[in-house]
Amino acid sequence: MENSALKASFGERYRHHVIIRDQLITLAGGVVDHLLTVETLAELIDAVNLARRLKLEYVVIGQGSGVLFSDVGFAGLVIINRTKRLSIDVTKSQVIADSGVLMQRLIVESASRDLTGLEFLAGLRGTVGGAAVMNRQANGVSLSQIVKSVTVLMPDGQIVTQPAQFMDYSEMSSRLTRVLANRLDLTETPELPVILTVTLQLSRNKKEEIMRKIQHFSQQNRAAWPLTLPSLGPVFKAYQGQPAERYLSQVETKRLVQGRAKLVPKQPNFILTHTAGLGASRTSDIMTLTLELQRAVAKKFDLWLEPNFICYGQWE
Ligand SMILES: Cc1cc2nc3c(=O)[nH]c(=O)nc-3n(C[C@H](O)[C@H](O)[C@H](O)COP(=O)(O)OP(=O)(O)OC[C@H]3O[C@@H](n4cnc5c(N)ncnc54)[C@H](O)[C@@H]3O)c2cc1C
Repeated sequence: MENSALKASFGERYRHHVIIRDQLITLAGGVVDHLLTVETLAELIDAVNLARRLKLEYVVIGQGSGVLFSDVGFAGLVIINRTKRLSIDVTKSQVIADSGVLMQRLIVESASRDLTGLEFLAGLRGTVGGAAVMNRQANGVSLSQIVKSVTVLMPDGQIVTQPAQFMDYSEMSSRLTRVLANRLDLTETPELPVILTVTLQLSRNKKEEIMRKIQHFSQQNRAAWPLTLPSLGPVFKAYQGQPAERYLSQVETKRLVQGRAKLVPKQPNFILTHTAGLGASRTSDIMTLTLELQRAVAKKFDLWLEPNFICYGQWE
């Protein structure tokens, strides 16, 4: 049923009973009860505060490249974060970005002001908020190495700016992902700080040198990941400093295809989530392949790989 308070506050930006897979680049997930797209920090703050007042479960997402909604759906509010303000302080070599800014825009605009430090993520998807939560990593570099501070909306409604230590980063994880990973019941959506802005400490370099690095990493990332096809990944985090690919490339699973989800032997840490001519895969099929990979690795190496995506919704 439509929520009248959300409709009154956000008008056409609010929709109810929406198939979430149509909104996400992973193309997976069932119906969410309420969906809202916000474009400014004021809207993001209002949306979260309203959801809290209405006692609606809510989740803030960026491009949704690291989340998996269940086939059954999510009986709450999904807030798609499209906040876009970006300010660059060349004297301090710092960038302050709204959490909805796309990483690719940030890389290009920083380069245009002779600021280096983000090129390792060239060509990859995701927003600043998603990257800061997941401690995005590529080419041996993690975003946490350049996060200076974050401004967050706390569950009690306060807005505070905290140094990077607040995020308690570890490899491909933060305090937020750890709370989500440690849920005993995946249907629970814990109330977590919402990232409003992120300040990144970059450094100066010649534009030509930065552009050369962008081109280099862009090619490397495009070769490493199936960026042109709907996919979920990296499916697993690194294990004790070793990339999950190291283990995955040495195991065989019973099947490569489950429904419309597929494993890609050449890129063993990804699952394709769409089959041409047939359509999007079910989340349950993606989960089956994930579990099969975990079991195959556990059998051969006696270790359990931890998923690198966050699950939301009702699970059967
Ligand atoms: C083809 C492909 C390649 C990829 N390559 C890499 C890679 O090389 N390295 C890597 O680390 N990851 C990679 N990923 C995974 C994913 O893209 C990253 O983790 C990305 O940073 C997520 O950004 P997002 O905006 O899509 O976040 P989302 O998926 O939208 O969100 C991720 C999590 O962060 C939370 N979140 C998002 N924004 C906020 C906010 N403002 N406040 C609070 N919580 C928030 C969400 O609730 C969710 O729990 C890849 C994914 C794909 C599909």
